[in-house]
Amino acid sequence: MTVNGWLSDAALRLAPVIGPAVAARELRLILRKATGWSSAQLGVAGGTTLPAPARAAADAMVLRRLAREPLAQIFGEWGFFGRSFRVTRATLVPRPDTETLVELALAEPFARLIDLGTGSGAIAVTLLAERPEARGLASDISADALAVAADNAQRHGVAGRLAFVQADWWAGLDGSFDLVVSNPPYVSQADYVGLAPEITLWEPRGALTPGGDGLSAYRAILAPITAFLCPGGRCLVEIGEAQGPAVAGLFRAAGLDDVVLHADINGKDRVVSGRKPSGRMGG
Ligand code: GLN
Repeated sequence: MTVNGWLSDAALRLAPVIGPAVAARELRLILRKATGWSSAQLGVAGGTTLPAPARAAADAMVLRRLAREPLAQIFGEWGFFGRSFRVTRATLVPRPDTETLVELALAEPFARLIDLGTGSGAIAVTLLAERPEARGLASDISADALAVAADNAQRHGVAGRLAFVQADWWAGLDGSFDLVVSNPPYVSQADYVGLAPEITLWEPRGALTPGGDGLSAYRAILAPITAFLCPGGRCLVEIGEAQGPAVAGLFRAAGLDDVVLHADINGKDRVVSGRKPSGRMGG
């Protein structure tokens, strides 16, 4: 069977499930993973015979995709901010949305960060990889997630500067940080049931929704935050697109200043940032 023959056969099976455009794009990625070819190599290979081992591997990946398993979990790794992160069912798949938070965090210096609910470690590992002088702590309530994050820290050479702790938000933690970051579960219980099967069947529910109105993780993160932030220190959290005003209100109620809503590349509110006052006025 030729490469093009395999692509059209596989598209017949996958397109009805995930749509023709996504299927076409993902099948190329599957073939590249199965063959080890670059995009350019695949581009000129259409008329050639697909080697049998690659065909078997690609067929197995299509079967998994038909069961709605996300490509990131099938591949076991996924790109985020220019680096590849190990991905398992234990954590959220790193999403491009979250690169907005990383960019904002990098816009100012920091020396000691904490990433609450680190999951794959994508945020903490990226920030430390980008800032070789910084150190950090990454927490998660899930031991399985922490194992994935530790692996990613190793992968990207930041393990010596990133510590891990199993914790329910701030419970049992102490310390003082000049940067607090989090992409907490924020989908409301009502919205969760409407998410794609790739998410609800394969990603950990606890990483996506705290239940209820979707805001309880922000309440837990923000209520005691001034005890953990250095004067002038920043907090940045990812939000759902409709949560900006509510989360900004929680920042202000917690005593943070400079509260700003930031949009992602699609123009949707995606991050709220704020700062602990540094002034002499006792803030
Ligand atoms: N943006 C994610 C989604 O809806 C949610 C991530 C989160 O809850 N932290 O797929």
